[in-house]
Amino acid sequence: MNSSPSLKGQAALVTGADSGIGKGVALALAHAGASVVINFAHNHDAAEETVNEIKAAGGMAFAYQADVSHEEEVQAMFAEMFKQYGTIDILVNNAGLQKDSKFVDMTLDQWNTVISINLTGQFLCSREAAREFIRRGVVEDRSRAAGKIICMSSVHEVIPWAGHVNYAASKGGISMFMKSIAQELAPHKIRVVGIGPGAIQTPINKAAWDTPEALDKLLTLIPYNRIGKPEDIGKLAAWLVSDDADYITGTTIFMDGGMTLYPGFADNG
Ligand code: NAD
Repeated sequence: MNSSPSLKGQAALVTGADSGIGKGVALALAHAGASVVINFAHNHDAAEETVNEIKAAGGMAFAYQADVSHEEEVQAMFAEMFKQYGTIDILVNNAGLQKDSKFVDMTLDQWNTVISINLTGQFLCSREAAREFIRRGVVEDRSRAAGKIICMSSVHEVIPWAGHVNYAASKGGISMFMKSIAQELAPHKIRVVGIGPGAIQTPINKAAWDTPEALDKLLTLIPYNRIGKPEDIGKLAAWLVSDDADYITGTTIFMDGGMTLYPGFADNG
C-alpha cells in the first residue's frame, strides 16, 4: 500500500476517525505508511470498518473509544497508543460536531457541548501529544520534526455563521489556539497546522447536499462548483504532516473550492 511511504514508521492518532473527514484522513495517513489509532465517540462498528479497510490494504490500525472532551479518557487513549505503538508522531484533531440554534434560543448546554468537543478536545489531545513530542525529541530517520499536529478548523474560522454561533466561535478559537501553540512549540521542532475545509460531503452537513435543490443552493457558495470529498482533505493532511511540508507551521490552509472568496461579489456585487 506504500506507493508514497513518506510517513513510514510513524504513529498517528486521528480523532473522530470513524466517519467523514476523519476517516478520509486516517486512510490517507495509513496509505502513506503511518500506523493509525482510529478514535471514535460512539460508533464502534464504523470504527472497526475503518480499521479493516486499512488492514486490508496492508496497513496498521486499531480503534479506540474516547470522548475528546474528557481529560481522563484522552489520557487513557494516549496511554494505550504508547503501549501499542510506543509513541506518537502525528496528531490530527478532527473530532467535531454542530448543535445549531438561533442565538437567542441557544441553550448553555448547546454552547458548552460544541465548545467542549470542538475546542477543549483539541487542547486536551494536543497537550498530551506535545508532552510526548518534547520528551522524545526528533528521531532522525523518521521525520525532520519531533511531531506534527493538525487542527481541523473550518471556513467558519473566518466566515461568520448566523444560527451556528457556538460552532463558529469554536473554529475561531481553534485558529488562535493553533497559532499560539505553534509559536510556543516551534523551538521544540513541533509543527502545528490548521486545515480549513469548505463544504465536504459528510454526515455533518447531509441536509446541505442530499437533495438536488439543496446541492444547487450550496454550489452558489462554491466558485469551483463542486462539493469536496473526505479524500481531498485526506491528501492535504498526509502532505502537511510529511517532511515535504517541513517549513509550514502556524497557519491554516483553506481547502474550500473558493468558498472564502466572497462569491457574492463574483458578478460585481
Ligand atoms: P462527521 O459527523 O462525519 O464526523 C465527526 C466525527 O467526530 C465522528 O467521527 C465522531 O465520532 C467524532 N466525534 C464527535 N464527538 C466526539 C467526541 N466527543 N469525542 C470523539 N469524537 C467525537 O463530520 P465531518 O464533516 O467529518 O467533521 C469532521 C471535522 O471536520 C469536524 O471538526 C468539522 O467541524 C470539520 N469540518 C467539516 C466540514 C464539512 O463540510 N464536512 C467543513 C469544515 C469543517
